[in-house]
Amino acid sequence: MLLIVFTNSLFALDKEKLNSIVGSAYSESIGYDFLERLCMESGGRLAGSENSIKAREIIKKQLESLGYKVEVDNYDMPGWIRGESKAHIVKPYLKELRIYALGYSQSMADSRIVAAYIGCGDSETIKNIDVKNKIALIDINDKKNGCDAPTRYDAILNAKNAGAKAVVFGSEKDGGMVLASGVGFDGSPSPIPAFIVAKEDFKSISASVKKGISVEIEISNSSKCQKIGIANIRAILPGESKRKIVVGAHYDSWDISTGAVDNGTGCAVLMDIARIIKKYSMSNKYTIEFVWFDAEELGLVGAKRYCERYSDSVVAMINMDMPGTPTGVDIMGFESFRSAAEEFLESFKGYKFSRGVDNTPWINSDHTPFLLKGIPCFTFHGDSPKEVYWHYHDYADTFDKVDKRILSDATAIIGAFVLKIDEIKDLEDMRLSEDKIIELMKSHKLDIKLKKQKEWHFKD
Ligand SMILES: [Zn+2]
Repeated sequence: MLLIVFTNSLFALDKEKLNSIVGSAYSESIGYDFLERLCMESGGRLAGSENSIKAREIIKKQLESLGYKVEVDNYDMPGWIRGESKAHIVKPYLKELRIYALGYSQSMADSRIVAAYIGCGDSETIKNIDVKNKIALIDINDKKNGCDAPTRYDAILNAKNAGAKAVVFGSEKDGGMVLASGVGFDGSPSPIPAFIVAKEDFKSISASVKKGISVEIEISNSSKCQKIGIANIRAILPGESKRKIVVGAHYDSWDISTGAVDNGTGCAVLMDIARIIKKYSMSNKYTIEFVWFDAEELGLVGAKRYCERYSDSVVAMINMDMPGTPTGVDIMGFESFRSAAEEFLESFKGYKFSRGVDNTPWINSDHTPFLLKGIPCFTFHGDSPKEVYWHYHDYADTFDKVDKRILSDATAIIGAFVLKIDEIKDLEDMRLSEDKIIELMKSHKLDIKLKKQKEWHFKD
């Protein structure tokens, strides 16, 4: 196994550089103010929306004020425009529901529909239930009848094939929260209109239906699928080599929230790291590219497009999605980076990393397409109080949840890590071959997840 050590001759200089970076993250931070402006002036940033276009301008202006030349890469993709959705129980009692259309749900005219509970929504369970012309209540996690949880999209398709008019999922969290999300991963329109309702509403309707009580819901939705324009924003710090280390965070969010934490925090930390590295890295070995990705929430689309275009020149990727106070670094299956990562954490003498170096690759954030190309990827484990991260995708992910100190913690540690990765020689040799990627995915059972999502593009 190839072990990686940092170049010792640079160590003295590095110590000084490291201290400057860490100090600046606390004493000169711009992350919080930048994020406040982003939230106040652009609001939630659903990909393709007017808000999102405003956000791009704010990011671009901030980068230009730091002296960066900014590149904006535009792409088209199948998108989704939220309209109004309304639903209330009309029988056996009147009650307004806390409900939202799921991303990629099509519109439906105001209709009064009887509810039917169809368990996890697999075809076996549905077979025995009359759901024709009804609204299907689906609990993906209902394990009854040995149900193997289908994807949301497949459950909707099954309900459609059984004659359902619409489907309703329950939110996962208590307290009236509704977590906005989409129906699938590839921009396909939902087979029939699909909604998500607060867990408490879902539970009470399902309980009545299971007892044989007829529940009728009046429901409507004016959302629609349509082509949208998305854009990745890139700020480039040239190095001795044209090969790139990508440091990224998605700036899109769901629209019912402000996306202050998911992933405004990642955007803010990325901005501050871009500032610090420009100021304190006198020269970098690799080109460092800071990328604000679009449309992560709609299926990592910005990151996928980036990879299609530039992945050949990328030698490492560091992704930040809701960063907390760093507790450890995940080397994502690249075991050969362990000693380097350990050495890095040990260089913070006054800091306790409770998770240390972890090697647990995971998917479904922007590093995924890079990982699937065999590019070394890194993410950080982080701590945040529950009130900070708990509301992601919900209405209550708002700027008041953001903790200034956590942004500085993440900026200090992750910013320093970027420069540590930059010190590693021959990063381009660390890329995994396709066989090795397949082996890595399979050893962590990520192939199963990717196949279910129809995102496994390898032969076996
Ligand atoms: Zn996110």
